[in-house]
Amino acid sequence: MTTTNTRPRVIIIGAGVAGITALHTFRSRGFTDVKVLEKGADVGGVWHWNRYPGLTCDVPSQIYQFGFAPKPDWSHIWAGGAEIQRYHRAVVDELGLSDHIQLNTEVVDARWEAATSSWTVRTADGETLTAEVVVCATGVLHHPAYPEIAGLDTFAGEVVHTARWDPTVTTSGRHIAVIGTGSTGVQVVSALVDDACGLTHYVRSPQWVLWAPMSLRQSRCVARLLETLPAAHAGLHKILLRGSAILADITTRPSWRRRAVQTYARMSLRLQVRDRDLRDRLTPDYEPLCKRQVVSGTYYRAIQQPHAHLVTEQITEVTARGIRTADGREHPTDVIVLATGFRAHDYMRPMTIVGRDGRTLDDAWRDGPRAYRMTAIPGFPNLFTILGPNSPTGSISLQHTSQLTADYIVHWLEQLRAGGVTSVEVTDEATEDYNRRLAEAMEPTVWNTGCHSWYIEGGSIDLFPYMPSTLASLLDTPDHSHFHIGTAPGDG
Ligand code: NAP
Repeated sequence: MTTTNTRPRVIIIGAGVAGITALHTFRSRGFTDVKVLEKGADVGGVWHWNRYPGLTCDVPSQIYQFGFAPKPDWSHIWAGGAEIQRYHRAVVDELGLSDHIQLNTEVVDARWEAATSSWTVRTADGETLTAEVVVCATGVLHHPAYPEIAGLDTFAGEVVHTARWDPTVTTSGRHIAVIGTGSTGVQVVSALVDDACGLTHYVRSPQWVLWAPMSLRQSRCVARLLETLPAAHAGLHKILLRGSAILADITTRPSWRRRAVQTYARMSLRLQVRDRDLRDRLTPDYEPLCKRQVVSGTYYRAIQQPHAHLVTEQITEVTARGIRTADGREHPTDVIVLATGFRAHDYMRPMTIVGRDGRTLDDAWRDGPRAYRMTAIPGFPNLFTILGPNSPTGSISLQHTSQLTADYIVHWLEQLRAGGVTSVEVTDEATEDYNRRLAEAMEPTVWNTGCHSWYIEGGSIDLFPYMPSTLASLLDTPDHSHFHIGTAPGDG
């Protein structure tokens, strides 16, 4: 039976997928004093901030949804960004979560107060809040990465980053330059090419682009069936979660299945691009599946349009009129679209987080982010992260990982609610041991066989090597011997 109690008070930072999951989970387990502080003007995280043309989820929507808020009637198998964002808003409204989310509120500082076993949280507006527990659900893909290209600030036209799209920028009938060839670059090129007067895609490192029918609609009959049979819907969700585990396995462990997908990636290029020179220039210098996989049903067709150009020469500078490449050519341009990704390193920053004995998060993570079970950090009592260091990425459902982590945190909230316990803090030894086992578990995977992901190249957020089943078992048994448990005076 669920009991209610206003203690512990909880502040969740961020109202994206992880923050919404945590808020709903904590409230449904009887924690009433839970508040989400969200910097943006709406919930949704990346789906609020990212609004670039062509934004589509490259994970099927029937898996890219909260387990507690199934949506049977997605319009497409791979839904567009606007529909996903409407879903987040609807979930928050329908579950009565809105009143617990404070929008337009950026947290700048969180400090552990040992005397009161609580966190003092300050916002950019000067508001001060107090809570026994802080949960950081701040997301890895938040801070846009702006490339350091000489002259970028002297460009006379418009420069727009995909992660902060400016809807007033006109792209139709103009010469557009797109820099970057990750999932975003590929989607934005496909979306802008038709109406552009000319489009040049600057590709520093070509990517393997797996063909998939991304514009496929989900049939109304399927929606009706899933609506009528919720158990079948839940079953489909489970099957898709299993499928994502198989995909993660294919991505990480050498096997015949991995080789089959690699062959499919090569065929996707070969069958769609007949021009040999263009194909050569689109061919990466690494094996398929060595980076987070890009999926598109339209990119290769888009780049072969007569007014589309692929430039693989290095960019040397941006001039007032366009982009100059290493061969000395200046490519006239009206609009520069930066699809150059995110500063994943700045996870949980630029907040100042000060834990026990004045230890800052910057100090604790000087050698890179690390956490116990992806969520608890030594030196930071009563603080947890969701989708934190080493959380599963790629094909594993973020909603599922968030749910498992939120359930794990609930265990500690219950300890704090029970009375007597005032703080919980993971030990250094447990965190060291966990990260050593993590490195060992990665041994037989591609991450240690010369195949690098952008997570690793980015420095620190490595692909978590476990599948959802083992992930659940890693999170479902909180081990008290790995935590310092603080108690109120007199409670021993
Ligand atoms: P990304 O994968 O980090 O790609 C950034 C691109 O910008 C790379 O091609 C990079 O080239 C290029 N770049 C950076 N600086 C450059 C410079 N100075 N000159 C030339 N090129 C430069 O970023 P993203 O495409 O935004 O994707 C970020 C994450 O979001 C990925 O995990 C992606 O899968 C995910 N995403 C998911 C969806 C979805 O539907 N679920 C949609 C979009 C994105 P190099 O490779 O040479 O560094």
